[in-house]
Amino acid sequence: MDTLSVYTKIHNHLVILSICTLLISCSQSQEALIVDDKTIADESITSDWLAYGRTHNERRFSPVEDINVSNVADLKVDWFIDLPEDVGLVSTPLVVDGVLYFTGTMNIIRAVNAVTGELIWRFDPEVVKYIGNKKQAGFVHNRGISFYKGKVFTATWDGRLIAIDAKTGTEIWTAVTFDPERALFITGAPKAFKGKVLIGNGGTEHGPSRGFVTAYDAETGEEAWKFYIVPGNPADGFENDAMEMAAKTWTGEWWKHGGGGNAWNAFTYDPDLDILYIGTGNGSPWNRKIRSPDGGDNLFLCAIVALDPDTGEYLWHYQTNPGESWDYNSNMDIILADLNINGEEIKAILHAPKNGFFYVINRETGKLISAEPFAETSWASHIDLATGRPVEIEGARYENDTAYITPSNYGAHSWHAMSYNPQTGLAYIPALHRALNYTDEGIDIENWHSVEFQGGFGVKVFDVTNQPRDYPASLIAWDPVKQREAWSVPQDDFWNAGTLTTGGNLVFQGRSDGKLLAYNASTGDTVWTFDVGLGISAPPITYKIDGRQYISLLVGWGGAYSGLSANDHGWAYKAQMRRLITFSLDGLADMPKLSPPINPVPINAPDFVVDQELASTGAIIYDKNNCSWCHGQNVLSGGMGPDLRASPIPLEKIAFAAVVRDGAKSEQGMPPMPDITDEELVSLMHYIRRTAHEASQP
Ligand code: CA
Repeated sequence: MDTLSVYTKIHNHLVILSICTLLISCSQSQEALIVDDKTIADESITSDWLAYGRTHNERRFSPVEDINVSNVADLKVDWFIDLPEDVGLVSTPLVVDGVLYFTGTMNIIRAVNAVTGELIWRFDPEVVKYIGNKKQAGFVHNRGISFYKGKVFTATWDGRLIAIDAKTGTEIWTAVTFDPERALFITGAPKAFKGKVLIGNGGTEHGPSRGFVTAYDAETGEEAWKFYIVPGNPADGFENDAMEMAAKTWTGEWWKHGGGGNAWNAFTYDPDLDILYIGTGNGSPWNRKIRSPDGGDNLFLCAIVALDPDTGEYLWHYQTNPGESWDYNSNMDIILADLNINGEEIKAILHAPKNGFFYVINRETGKLISAEPFAETSWASHIDLATGRPVEIEGARYENDTAYITPSNYGAHSWHAMSYNPQTGLAYIPALHRALNYTDEGIDIENWHSVEFQGGFGVKVFDVTNQPRDYPASLIAWDPVKQREAWSVPQDDFWNAGTLTTGGNLVFQGRSDGKLLAYNASTGDTVWTFDVGLGISAPPITYKIDGRQYISLLVGWGGAYSGLSANDHGWAYKAQMRRLITFSLDGLADMPKLSPPINPVPINAPDFVVDQELASTGAIIYDKNNCSWCHGQNVLSGGMGPDLRASPIPLEKIAFAAVVRDGAKSEQGMPPMPDITDEELVSLMHYIRRTAHEASQP
């Protein structure tokens, strides 16, 4: 091992690799680690990062302390890979037996040597081929993969769950998890547990969606069970008793609107209690007056639902937002922590959903233990501990007029991972502080209906100048026992990435401004900052091989948030190289700086005379076809897609039709829209030109 350490120090990875093949002591030559529930649950394994949240506890905490508050200032780039094909990178890599696996744009999986970054295999599920014309729903990014007994599991944008041989990178089986004609999509990581793999989907806002999760046999890909999150039409009969019970909490003809509840993130398995927990989504549509006109809690929207892992049978639920009406889903981390509360050992769930409250829930029974706001919550004053229900503020359901609501539909906390450090006893939340006005004035509540791939909210939201804080985001260290903030760091930008915490008393977080920071986990003091040169949306991981601790991070601005202030930093579409960067205390890699920030300059075309009426029609067409998901609200791109104001294509009808109608850019993720009419294309051109001309006015 000493010889190896010396070689590691001189950092000639090729030499190390060849030595690895010779030395029996090298970790890569040792017996392969069997990744099963026992190993995934083992908090003491620090050489690997075996699951999305590291272990079944989903804490994103590693006890490894080699990198710590006193030496983190020496952290340097150890190795990196350029990823020129990629756009949005939001995923958590896995490390198993010296191999680092990660998912990139368009669900392409790579396996690389975790010490050198050398490519071992690349798996391309050819998403573009499968998604056909149905790409108007969804994103090019994905949050992660799962590993179990020699297989890597990935779930694709178009709805396939694929098992890949971890050694060779070849497909073992594929399961189609939903009808590709439906406006559903997957951005989440599958969850492997107890010989099964679980996956849900997104699409609540894209049509009459009825959420469900499905578990498959990890060996064969055969469907094991399926759990619907909301009830269907009672006339068709209920799938199980839970659906019959849930139907009593709905009114009207909710099934025509789908109901929603899609589970697109947050699946946790507790092997000790043998319970599976899923976090469920908001209503489809958001406005309860439409989907359940006479009220009701609308189970199992916005809830943690506990299921039998073998059968998918309902065990219990805790609902964070009865009768949800603001896009406050509960798809955020479900962390398992054992807390001492008033002298009693509690097996708890820690959960900080969009609605701004931090929940501590007994994970054996589903009983609420405590809940306090970690951000401003204008929709509810508090959570009543006797009933477990929020006490809503009158008017919050926009029942009379416009309602000023914080948190916004982006939530006080979104999918960016929260971590929990059992040594400090603190949870680290990437928090958002934002308010919006909600109103359904002018919406025909009785006749509203959702169209597949167009969808809608059933309520309008507007930006407001009066924001809850004078900064849009913060990193909050939260004490779940005392239910209060221990420390927080205000942040100048919205949409910062998920957190990692370690036994070195550290918290790591990447920000949208391109800085990766390490904080003292106890005090919040900044102890290290590194500029990666591009907005960060993915959470870091850590692992330790041959005595060296690594911190690894995907760098590639992304996620379901385009436009707004995102383009202030100049993370223009494909302007900066995407990367996987791995740090260590002994890193010697010479990593070239990325291209400087770029703000695309809107083309001022004085010969193009904008017809205001056509432009206004174009704005409606733009919104209806979900163009903003990639090209940004009001055509202000946040880097997920090209800035259309700066593109010459919308200036020429033939070129524009080739891309929008005929799919000339489908390989890059731009869906063809074969049904779009000439008139609609022209109106879109006028709308784009209007925004370009407005932007080029002094
Ligand atoms: Ca939603």
